[in-house]
Amino acid sequence: MANDLHTEGFSDPLSNPGAANAAIARMLSEGAQVAKPEIALPAGGQFRLPGGYVSGGGDYNNARYEAEVRELTGADEEAITKARNGGIGRFIATLLACGTVSVGNEHSSATLLNNLLLGDRDMLLLEIRRATYGDEIVWDQYSCPHCGEEFRLSVTLDEIPVRRLSHADQRVFEVELRRGRKAFVRLPIGADQEAILAIVDRATESEQNTLLISRCLISVIEPDGSENAVSGNPDFARSLGIVDRQRILDSIEEKQPGPQYNEVKFTHDSCGKEVPLFIGAGDLFQGL
Ligand SMILES: [Zn+2]
Repeated sequence: MANDLHTEGFSDPLSNPGAANAAIARMLSEGAQVAKPEIALPAGGQFRLPGGYVSGGGDYNNARYEAEVRELTGADEEAITKARNGGIGRFIATLLACGTVSVGNEHSSATLLNNLLLGDRDMLLLEIRRATYGDEIVWDQYSCPHCGEEFRLSVTLDEIPVRRLSHADQRVFEVELRRGRKAFVRLPIGADQEAILAIVDRATESEQNTLLISRCLISVIEPDGSENAVSGNPDFARSLGIVDRQRILDSIEEKQPGPQYNEVKFTHDSCGKEVPLFIGAGDLFQGL
């Protein structure tokens, strides 16, 4: 054998299969010359937030709208299914933490996610769902609430209407109360949602509403124009009249941007009736 072919140590697999296999095994165990398996980066997506992220303290004119999410991986699945045992709040928080890459020019963090409007968090969930499972949500046996017929129903994510704020400053607004008073209110953010979800198992709906109002009601303006700061005061939220509380809650609901899951409807061909479709986080992530 000619030395310039660098065949020194070469084992012809046909004449000496044992030596060739041993050489391959040695190479694999050393790992030196074996190409590492390529691990594809999870698929992701970029999109615009419907509300806008205003970082701590916040100038509404500097709201950021660009967001990026990625496909959930097996490691995420393990974390998310484990978090599920801790309740819906932990489940959603972990989904968002796993799937969110960045908002504006900031990497995702717990602080960032807690400062996002609920509608922006809902939008992130929708896009994480799209990156992970695709556009189509399928119910194999959907039962029509009018005629009872079971059929396969599919809805694409683009059929879910998205409400957008025309300006980031719309997250704070006035609500007319009874007897000439006005409330100055802000839209709830992730931190509010987490606080409410933390008590959801042991608190009544009224108690949850008290907590939400006490967090989101900034001040009350009296008919004479004097303004009293009442933020973070559950006793004040309890002292409000029932109608005033409802007006505040309705305004929050009406103004929250994001995917409007309760506005999806379709007409069932067989019975000709309109069916409202309620899509929750469980439907978006049917596998988890
Ligand atoms: Zn029907």
